[in-house]
Amino acid sequence: QFPFGRRLPCDIYWHGVSFHDNDIFSGQVNKFPGMTEMVRKITLSRAVRTMQDLFPLEYNFYPRSWILPEEFSLFVDEVRMMKDGDPSWKPTFIVKPDGGCQGDGIYLIKDPSDIRLTGSIQSRPAVVQEYICKPLLVDKLKFDIRLYVLLKSLEPLEIYIAKDGLSRFCTEPYQEPTLKNLHQVFMHLTNYSLNIHSGNFIHSDNVNTGSKRTFSSILCRLSSKGADVKKLWSDIISLVIKTIIALTPELKVYYQSDIPAGKPGPTCFQILGFDILLMKNLKPMLLEVNANPSMRIEHEQELSPGVFENVPSPVDEEVKVAVIRDTLRLVDPQKKKRKDTQKHIDCCKNKLNISYNYFMCHRCQTLEHVPEASEELLGTGPAGRGEGDTPRSPEAGLPSLCLKQVFPKYAKQFNYLRLVDRVAALFIRFLGVKGTTKLGPTGFRTFIRNCKLSNSNFSMASVDILYIDITRRWNSMGIDHKESGMCLQAFVEAFFCLAQKKYKSLPLHEQVASLIDFCEYHLAALDEKRLVCGRG
Ligand code: ADP
Repeated sequence: QFPFGRRLPCDIYWHGVSFHDNDIFSGQVNKFPGMTEMVRKITLSRAVRTMQDLFPLEYNFYPRSWILPEEFSLFVDEVRMMKDGDPSWKPTFIVKPDGGCQGDGIYLIKDPSDIRLTGSIQSRPAVVQEYICKPLLVDKLKFDIRLYVLLKSLEPLEIYIAKDGLSRFCTEPYQEPTLKNLHQVFMHLTNYSLNIHSGNFIHSDNVNTGSKRTFSSILCRLSSKGADVKKLWSDIISLVIKTIIALTPELKVYYQSDIPAGKPGPTCFQILGFDILLMKNLKPMLLEVNANPSMRIEHEQELSPGVFENVPSPVDEEVKVAVIRDTLRLVDPQKKKRKDTQKHIDCCKNKLNISYNYFMCHRCQTLEHVPEASEELLGTGPAGRGEGDTPRSPEAGLPSLCLKQVFPKYAKQFNYLRLVDRVAALFIRFLGVKGTTKLGPTGFRTFIRNCKLSNSNFSMASVDILYIDITRRWNSMGIDHKESGMCLQAFVEAFFCLAQKKYKSLPLHEQVASLIDFCEYHLAALDEKRLVCGRG
């Protein structure tokens, strides 16, 4: 707890809900600004959709989705077209209120006309999504996976995935959706908070049985039946990295607004909960991302009617304690200091070409004893020293890390997807006054001018019309009225328009990549020119 009136800064700030730290100037905060907004159902669907437009095959792990109410007629039209094209297609859809959680307000429909449009939809926007009818079943039950992911840093991007997660089971045997069973939540929705109320929910001490199990126990079972669990893990890692790549552009806009570059501020990290459904063919599908996943390791038990007690939940404990412990190990500020000191010692040693154990450090003017220091600092020294010796590394004796680094480790495979990130970098450059998240008309004009995008075919008047048209439409969707101007998504849409205009015959992602190269080239030339002028 952070007592009111505390003056001394902390190394790590651990919030329960979201980032709200305008008065913290150092240390690390366990939430990113804007993350809660970014993972809401509508915002996530939009961010993934942008990536699906660019890379449809790479982003086919997210069910086809429409945003309500604004895309209701598009939804009706597209479903009708698809049904006309394939009369045997008998889809089911799932409607999820935006900002809802724990299955709240979710329902299944067979036909777009079944959407409850009256009253609530206007006040409560939602996402309607194709329902995955053929999930993988274990013991005839539908289940989903909760995986914990640590976003350790946004710039440079660093992602870790926990090696184990939770599998949350439905409590009634699954049947493919029919008009008769659509309303049976214990059959179709895997939420713990719903199924706990079913008479069939089984709390288990054993991680291999019950209504909540470890994901590793499911993998063992699949592996014993000959499934390729290595491929499954690699598909899951790829899903996680791609989803975070879809979220980073807007997160960076929020970040520069709350923690402007060049001013003192904290750095951020965050544990995210990824909800994933496995299809019958073992393809993982993303259901949603949780910015504030529950870290409870107890559950309530009714001892006698009306009398509840919190009892430990071994399955939760096994998975969640490791996630928090290792997050703290990875963001440990002492570890960074130890690493920096070691780097400094190595550097001095190299510079002086020292082969003996003691040397005088020029920077700190102290006598350093090299080998012991390096072993101790990195925690690689022999474990089990006696009392009175140099202290043991704080890492010694801890289990090996449950968090596996996946980015930048696999960066080479995924960097080509980070196009919108580069568009966001252009957007942020032209935001001008720090602290805003929206681009004004002058900023947009400067972007066009500095990147040399205006010509005889595309006058500055057309630039203004493009700005007004797109900005007005995005602002009418009622996303954020706090600031006026062009939000990142609107800028991305304008950028795609410009790219399509300039590079007509290429596929969209190549058009966009070419336009980014073009803009970056002109901005680099401009920076060079300014530097030379400045020197002059
Ligand atoms: P909430 O935030 O309310 O939990 P989710 O998006 O996680 O919302 O959906 C709740 C549950 O509904 C999921 O845990 C899953 O069991 C089921 N579900 C959600 N989307 C789909 C889908 N497209 N296909 C099949 N089942 C789904």
